[in-house]
Amino acid sequence: MITRQFGIPVTSPGAILRRERDLGTPLGLETAGTTQHGGLVSDKIIVELIEDWLRLHGGHGFVFDGFPRTIPQAESLQSILNRHRTPLDLAIWLDVSQQTVSGRIASRLQCQGCGFTTSLSSATFAERPICPYCDGPLVRRNDDDAEVLKKRLEEFEAKTQPLAALYEKAGTLRKIDGNRDREAVFGDISRLIEQAA
Ligand code: AMP
Repeated sequence: MITRQFGIPVTSPGAILRRERDLGTPLGLETAGTTQHGGLVSDKIIVELIEDWLRLHGGHGFVFDGFPRTIPQAESLQSILNRHRTPLDLAIWLDVSQQTVSGRIASRLQCQGCGFTTSLSSATFAERPICPYCDGPLVRRNDDDAEVLKKRLEEFEAKTQPLAALYEKAGTLRKIDGNRDREAVFGDISRLIEQAA
């Protein structure tokens, strides 16, 4: 949605790793077990993915979704930005309750081609599980499961939650209530991006 509305390239290490896994590359195979069980992939691998992506797409602004997720990743990001002589404009923190997350993963469908995300409860897509943007197949993610979610939330509490204080201190943190519908959340994100531009 951000790319369509603002023309800003977005990347997510999770999406890159799913694609690598689907393609059966060495990186995809090496990380498939960790992602399937909800653990975090090593900081070294994730930072290399981000650096590679930035070399290709990082010329005129960018958004990371799901990065950084640990303090060492945030430190690496800071050095990368320093090298690019680019400040971090915004760190958007989507606050969601455990109930919201459980409900969303129980019905999430994701396009294997472009990553577009929708839900099983969206009747139009349920009848024809094809992505409206790229005609790719809409599939369930193999980590969208209650046990895996438990592990993901433990990882979040231990390694990602501390980033809120870091970005709060830096003055870049903006919290949004992510428990609302897609349009309301995207409206708030859009306003933050417009203010930062
Ligand atoms: P996501 O698509 O953001 O939900 O990520 C799916 C999975 O990819 C996560 O559960 C991790 O196994 C891995 N992953 C994605 N982003 C990161 C990251 N920044 N650091 C470590 N592992 C990650």
